[in-house]
Amino acid sequence: MLKLYNTASRQLEPFSPENPEKVKIYTCGPTVYSSPHLGNFAAYLYWDLLLRVLKAEGMTPYRVLNLTDVGHLSSDADSGEDKLEKGAKREGKTVWEIADFYIEKFKSDFKKLDLLEPEIWARATDYIPASKSLVEKLIDNGYTYETSDGVYFDTSKFPAYADFARLDLEHLKTGARVAFSSEKRNPSDFAVWKFIQPGESHAMRWDFLGRPGYPGWHLECSAIIHETLAEPIDLHAGGIDHIPVHHTNEIAQTFGAYQKPLANFWLHCNFLKINGEKISKSLGNLVTLDDLEKKGFAPADFKLWLYQGHYRSERNFTWNDLAAARSRRRKWLNAYLRQFQQATSSTTASEPSPDFRATLLEKLDDDLNSAAAFAYLDSSLDTLTLADWRLIESLFALDLASADRDTEYTALNQRLTPLLETRNLARKTKDYATADCLRTDLEKQGITFLDKNNITYWQFL
Ligand SMILES: [Zn+2]
Repeated sequence: MLKLYNTASRQLEPFSPENPEKVKIYTCGPTVYSSPHLGNFAAYLYWDLLLRVLKAEGMTPYRVLNLTDVGHLSSDADSGEDKLEKGAKREGKTVWEIADFYIEKFKSDFKKLDLLEPEIWARATDYIPASKSLVEKLIDNGYTYETSDGVYFDTSKFPAYADFARLDLEHLKTGARVAFSSEKRNPSDFAVWKFIQPGESHAMRWDFLGRPGYPGWHLECSAIIHETLAEPIDLHAGGIDHIPVHHTNEIAQTFGAYQKPLANFWLHCNFLKINGEKISKSLGNLVTLDDLEKKGFAPADFKLWLYQGHYRSERNFTWNDLAAARSRRRKWLNAYLRQFQQATSSTTASEPSPDFRATLLEKLDDDLNSAAAFAYLDSSLDTLTLADWRLIESLFALDLASADRDTEYTALNQRLTPLLETRNLARKTKDYATADCLRTDLEKQGITFLDKNNITYWQFL
């Protein structure tokens, strides 16, 4: 039985969705104003593993992923410039062009990483009517007040506000005394709708409450969930940095508007660091998928590296560790290829071995412990069947045993089998010069021979 760590209870709990045939999942998505980096993708990789484990357990996930193209201000709170406006200025484009461009970039990286497509890609600006209606509900229910720059959620009206993040509101008040000089009633209050001031340039604007404005950043997630999934959903996921503000605010506004909890289960992943440092633009240490590919790594190498650790642990990315993950992946690929070369139609089992499947899933059912699953995989490497490999591929999508690749391997096999036979014959007749020459030629193409248990295989170097 799958157990996950629920942030709401701070406990490992069995995950049992209301309807296993439609498991309602929402994962907070990117703000689409610059190229996504590895730190952004870590979360989507962890949630991809989750979706695949749910499928292996016989459930059918239905997942919504939002794309924030409006309202996310540079301070993450309610001040500063809209990130999309900032991107537009930087690149001399319109905000709409910026959003389109980086949505496409995000989706193409998503595909390269072979992540399961969400059932709904929800772009914030496509949900403006739903966002407005949520604000209206909050106003009607008495949870808001108006200031000169927007409509704010009054967090003192929602007594459970501090519960989710275990916030110390008193401490927040003392800490904020200096900076807290706006018209906000409480430091934790947040804008659900922002007004555009006369003279302020904000290209994305909608008329609402008698003047032009745009939604507050947190609003879209609650609005999209209400519109696409209906609360409470089975599982909501995001980064741990979302706990104290973003998710806390989502919970407050959904309850304020609809008097219902937002989600039954909350999953949060930890940060990814690069060479021991926090990823930040100012440090210039952003690594993208393109950077990785330029250095000769496959997207799946990064996946394998990430899954060697746990989603709740902070991870530290280094190029050396990535190289080690690439070697581990090649070792697995070669083990698969040995099976592939040996297989005939009569030896190709269509189902994975029940013991292997049960043990592998048992590891993953323990709060997605992929590191333990990998250790078990390593220890089973020489006994795995083609069907076992298909199972591994369906869970981790590491580009090992995919149908597309098999076409390539079949072609390689046809080309290499005669060479292999010639080389073995040369060795038998002690014509070592020919045998060596064949090996050297092949190695130039990144392929070599392996003699194991009286069988000769070809494999990748
Ligand atoms: Zn969100």
